[in-house]
Amino acid sequence: MAGLLVILVGPAGAGKTTLAHRLIGARPNRRGFSVSHTTRPMRATEVHGVDYFFVDTAAFLALRDADGFAECAQVHGNWYGTSKAEIGRLTKDGGDVLFDVDIVGAHNLWRAYPDAARLVFVLPPSWPVLVQRLRDRGSETEQTLRRRLRTARQELCGVVESAAPWQVIVNADLDAAAAQLEVLMAGSSDATPARDHPVLQGCLRAAEADPLAA
Ligand code: 5GP
Repeated sequence: MAGLLVILVGPAGAGKTTLAHRLIGARPNRRGFSVSHTTRPMRATEVHGVDYFFVDTAAFLALRDADGFAECAQVHGNWYGTSKAEIGRLTKDGGDVLFDVDIVGAHNLWRAYPDAARLVFVLPPSWPVLVQRLRDRGSETEQTLRRRLRTARQELCGVVESAAPWQVIVNADLDAAAAQLEVLMAGSSDATPARDHPVLQGCLRAAEADPLAA
């Protein structure tokens, strides 16, 4: 596999999806987005085969039992998985693949493809900005907001404790974050280990003190 597997993880509201599509838009013939399978119901704005392959639980588990997933995990009570066929399709001509998966999936992909995988944690500039971005979406109820913030706190903790080589991108400004990701994909690596990154540490401290994320 000549291309890179660029695995974007980070809180909902950090801008992973927008960032991934920006990077793909810059080189659409050389980069693709890994479309996952999920058992989650399709949202009104989503398209089957573009956002996800929406399948029922029986179909998902059949593919899992046939060893069809490179990784799969339950997130918020639904199954999500990256099929081996999707990775094969996107990498067959040596292209790079961008992934939006949870932290468990990221670690599993990294273990499965240690040479090609690049683990990238996308952060908002601060915890209050993240909370505000989620509120501004207008689509979150108080309950889903709390669940997303709790997951965000767990993922921040997970990265700090991870032994894997994470790199951090702070998405304060989309152009700047996209430029930073381009540099990273060109092979340069962030000198600051993720766990020592000041924005990551600041977000984690604020998350741990926030009753909404408890
Ligand atoms: P959503 O339902 O909001 O689209 O995604 C919920 C969570 O599932 C996000 O954290 C997203 O990154 C994660 N996710 C999406 N696809 C996959 C996948 O294929 N594998 C894993 N492990 N997580 C995924």
